[in-house]
Amino acid sequence: MKFYLLTLGCPKNQVDAEFMSARLTEAGHTSCSEPRDADLLIVNTCSFIEPARAEAVEVILDLLPYKKPHGKAEYLILTGCLPQMIGREIFKALPEVDAILGTAEYGLIVETVSALIAGEWPVDRSPQGVGGISHLCGTRVPASQQYAWLKISEGCSNHCTYCTIPSIRGPQISRSIEDIRQEALSLAARGVQEIILIAQDTTRYGTDIYGKPALDLLLQELDSKLPSDIWIRMMYFYADSITDNLIDTIAQSVRILNYIDLPIQHASNTILKRMGRLETSELIKGKIALLRSKLPGLILRTTVMVGFPGETEADIEILLNLMEEIRFDRLGCFIFSPEAGTPAARLTPKISSDIAQNRYDRVMLAQSRIELAKSQERIGTITDVIFSDYQEGDILYQGRSYGEAPDVDPVIWVASTVPDLDLNRRYPVRIVEADHYSLVGVTEYEYCE
Ligand code: SF4
Repeated sequence: MKFYLLTLGCPKNQVDAEFMSARLTEAGHTSCSEPRDADLLIVNTCSFIEPARAEAVEVILDLLPYKKPHGKAEYLILTGCLPQMIGREIFKALPEVDAILGTAEYGLIVETVSALIAGEWPVDRSPQGVGGISHLCGTRVPASQQYAWLKISEGCSNHCTYCTIPSIRGPQISRSIEDIRQEALSLAARGVQEIILIAQDTTRYGTDIYGKPALDLLLQELDSKLPSDIWIRMMYFYADSITDNLIDTIAQSVRILNYIDLPIQHASNTILKRMGRLETSELIKGKIALLRSKLPGLILRTTVMVGFPGETEADIEILLNLMEEIRFDRLGCFIFSPEAGTPAARLTPKISSDIAQNRYDRVMLAQSRIELAKSQERIGTITDVIFSDYQEGDILYQGRSYGEAPDVDPVIWVASTVPDLDLNRRYPVRIVEADHYSLVGVTEYEYCE
């Protein structure tokens, strides 16, 4: 069958989708890029927050015209977080759905398609449990040669009071260092230039199987086994479990990037406690000082949340003050969304949407000033940039350096005096201009010959 697979949400979902796609291809099915050509439509859903669920439903409705009797497709399968949360209720709400698979059942995708072809209907592989990493095996073809996300553990054993992830994906289950090394080597053999390690809480990787956080050991293994020109990036650190060994491991490696994504969520200790976070503002500041002292040129990204129940003006001032003090290179801000079943959804007092929006605007305005100044500090520096796209005729390329993670960070626009530079190759670039949302650079001609 020809299948069209659309994945929503985060990079962790993208990895799950790439494994499903690989298994389907091995079983003789063929991927296609247009839903109109497909016999089988698959939507890998996200349901982290209400807007993600709304997006999933919208996407599903948009695909219905491609399904019989209007279109060509025989079947529609939903996988991932939405079936995990709602289970077979989906069949009542969306009778066009033919099969569902929860997050622990990704590995059953081929069997599910076979069951549909054999006449079983609807195929209900609704969640028998939460979590699972058994599908993260075998080869897969990443969406890009430039970079590939590599999931090192599934689920989360933290208990942030606002978060549905532990109930959807279960407690943390880590893959072994050997298993991850094999996948990293296989990605490198496919020509992937950058491997991005992801998990819900990357710094707590390995605690469940090695009895202590083992990200440092994993990095040492990858650092010694991967080809020397591969970049290793990590996302989703948690300040509480950043160890000295981990920082030293990053500092001693040339291929582990001095880029840290550390979602702190807030700076007020009162709010951090209500959020169920394990860090205090003091701990966050201490860890960042340590990171900056050992990792030269560190690019630091964070995420914060405003409008959490009970948040006062004083709490927002604490957050704004910490932002001024730390000066994150990049910052994303979310407005609290009460998710059914989470402890935070029951907390009071609620913050009105007007006030939450006002706080969001103030955070983003403050960050835009900081970010502009931080970007301008990079003017005059020379940095390796990998090009991902170009505008024909202008000799203008779009790329990323170690300081820009794909999808979430601004791009670098590069004017080259040399035409026909290779995409997917790194070139030294001098940063010459910066604004809020992008950097501008020129290739260093003498390096490009
Ligand atoms: S660390 Fe907290 S916010 Fe992140 S997935 Fe775990 S529980 Fe959710």
